[in-house]
Amino acid sequence: MEYLPNIVFAVALVLGIGFFARNVKKLSRNIKLGKDVDVSDNKSQRWKNMAKIALGQTKMVVRPIAGLMHVIVYVGFIIINIEVLEIILDGLLGTHRLFSSLGSLYNFLIGSFEVLALLVIVAVVVFWIRRNIIRIQRFIKPEMKGWPKTDGNMILYIELVLMTLFLTMNAADFQLQQLGADHYVQAGTFPVSQFIVPLLDSLSESSLILVERTAWWLHILGILAFLNYLYYSKHLHILLAFPNTYYGKLKPQGQFNNLESVTNEVKLMMDPDADPFAAPAEDDVAEPEKFGASDVMDLNWVQLLNAYTCTECGRCTSECPANQTGKKLSPRKIMMDTRDRLEEVGKIIDANKGEFVPDGKQLLDDYISREELWACTTCNACVQACPVSIDPLSIIVEMRRYLVMEQSAAPTELNNMMSNIENNGAPWPYNQMDRLNWVNE
Ligand code: SF4
Ligand code: SF4
Repeated sequence: MEYLPNIVFAVALVLGIGFFARNVKKLSRNIKLGKDVDVSDNKSQRWKNMAKIALGQTKMVVRPIAGLMHVIVYVGFIIINIEVLEIILDGLLGTHRLFSSLGSLYNFLIGSFEVLALLVIVAVVVFWIRRNIIRIQRFIKPEMKGWPKTDGNMILYIELVLMTLFLTMNAADFQLQQLGADHYVQAGTFPVSQFIVPLLDSLSESSLILVERTAWWLHILGILAFLNYLYYSKHLHILLAFPNTYYGKLKPQGQFNNLESVTNEVKLMMDPDADPFAAPAEDDVAEPEKFGASDVMDLNWVQLLNAYTCTECGRCTSECPANQTGKKLSPRKIMMDTRDRLEEVGKIIDANKGEFVPDGKQLLDDYISREELWACTTCNACVQACPVSIDPLSIIVEMRRYLVMEQSAAPTELNNMMSNIENNGAPWPYNQMDRLNWVNE
């Protein structure tokens, strides 16, 4: 019986980490459904970007209020969770405040964690007010109804509860230390939770132990539950922001990728020595590649990683000129739709023993409409605004490429322009012979 709490703790830990590992495996399988893309270049620049953007949060603070609050929650949450290491070891070994032998360093750490916990609570309350009372425009766009709204609030509630449990646990512990209770070593400074102590003043030692133990257990079980909630939430970005910024686009923003097959075709057309009737080389007779993307498997794996990393912050949408002028397009929705469809494809694969069975649906039309795609001005404002280096434009361009090259389904104005370029060498409907007529006018 003496070891029962340790055994229960070990089981909870194994289950929590086990479910998380299962979700990570699923996540990685889904991302790998994307096409391969070579992002092995310029490693030093990639590491720098990751350190600057993901770790340093440099793009977050472009909007100072939200940015500063986010930095507090991010730093606070990460640093306070260093304490989780002690909690885990205490839980497994049956010790209490195992690291207290660090002396004044330990006291300093616990004191700093408490200050950070208070700041996190303040930041979370401000975030909640911005979302639910002030109702900032980017949080109430059509794509933010239903689950995305609930998810955004749920994360705030979970963080609030975890921080409150942490401070309650410390307050009860502090009081037990004052009473000289067995097992409760004199350790830590409690600059914030000391103000909760008066609320516990009337409790007996056994009730205080009950409060301390309950808060301790709920705190660690809450962290394990939160870890498993990540996969279903936009909060997955706390993990994926790092690889996503590492694999972010390094080329100049306006530079699009060319299709190799088309480039070769054009080069062949422009080569005066090429024989137009030459038989294709043996290795050229493979099935022609699909142009562009109509579903998630046609996108590359970095684009799918982008979709899972999206924080749904809406900075992209608030900067998008198409969205600002009332068009249906929202770059955030493009990312959310891509993730939703990818999840749907993943579930089909799970239900069919690892095989994808076509379900008659696709990203194009079933999730993202043509109206949205053609509303994009390709200005790159969304890419510039994204705090975690997501590129919604690349998905839009791939899907447009599919519409143009596979379905010839561009808007009439574009089709006319492309026919003119093909026939006249210019976007205008004039014969090439008439090009210099303007000189005589
Ligand atoms: S590139 Fe397209 S989606 Fe992005 S901001 Fe510009 S118009 Fe909007
Ligand atoms: S794409 Fe980037 S800017 Fe847009 S909602 Fe997602 S994280 Fe925010």
